[in-house]
Amino acid sequence: MERVGTKRFLALAIPCLFATSLVFASEPVIPPPPIPLHSEVRQEAPKAKAEEPAAKKEEKKSEEKVAEKAAAKAPAGHGEAVEAVFPGEALKNLLAGNKRYTANAFKNSHRDPARRLEVAGGQHPFAVIVSCSDSRVPPEIIFDQGVGDLFVVRVAGHVVDDEALGSIEYAVSHLGASLIFVLGHERCGAVSAAVAGAASGEHAPGHIAKIVEAIMPAVEKAKGREGDNLTNCIQSNTKIVAEKIRVSQPIISEKAADGMVRVVGGYYDLDTGVVSIVYNPDLSL
Ligand SMILES: [Zn+2]
Repeated sequence: MERVGTKRFLALAIPCLFATSLVFASEPVIPPPPIPLHSEVRQEAPKAKAEEPAAKKEEKKSEEKVAEKAAAKAPAGHGEAVEAVFPGEALKNLLAGNKRYTANAFKNSHRDPARRLEVAGGQHPFAVIVSCSDSRVPPEIIFDQGVGDLFVVRVAGHVVDDEALGSIEYAVSHLGASLIFVLGHERCGAVSAAVAGAASGEHAPGHIAKIVEAIMPAVEKAKGREGDNLTNCIQSNTKIVAEKIRVSQPIISEKAADGMVRVVGGYYDLDTGVVSIVYNPDLSL
């Protein structure tokens, strides 16, 4: 029998070991029962940097406090260990993804069969996106995110009713999302309809009227402001919706007050693809 040398043995054994680890890594996980976020996450402090500006230090302190609160609430040895994403980190992830999108430098991560299997047994999206249904504003693409990264609630005019609020609460309470990002966009047809309705006094047909009605407070608020009226209305709408979510009782208002969850509003430029921040009451970047 041919004697297998050390080098040949390693050449044969390493790929086998690697293949075995892949098999284990891709095994579907038994879905855990729905339990509150902080009983199933492991909070980790952000890595220290050599020199940080004061604003960043402030944000870090805030995130450390969040980690302490989460750790205090987390029963030991219960649920699946998942690395938590702080609200500030989640926002940076989104904005970094948008930069890749506008630079046409997609990372396209979390879009392969391994990721599909990884999240098949349970999802832990790091952010909730509340956006318009507009076909030109697909959240996973404009933020360069993949399967299981974003929990998306989409309605024309990015308005929220009780069902939408319940969806957001579920993502925050049970799935661990720490950022709620409300995204308006340039030349929004739903907001345009509200502006036109306010000017003409005519009602939109069918159930479209309900959407127009929900956007009307933003049209009122933007009246008399300098600049483009439609843009002002869209951004007012984003701020109103984001604030409605942030103060909603009892789940999100409590988590937002604790710093466990952050609500941010953005505006998407259809021409450039850039997302800019228009509402960010808790912390500056
Ligand atoms: Zn729209």
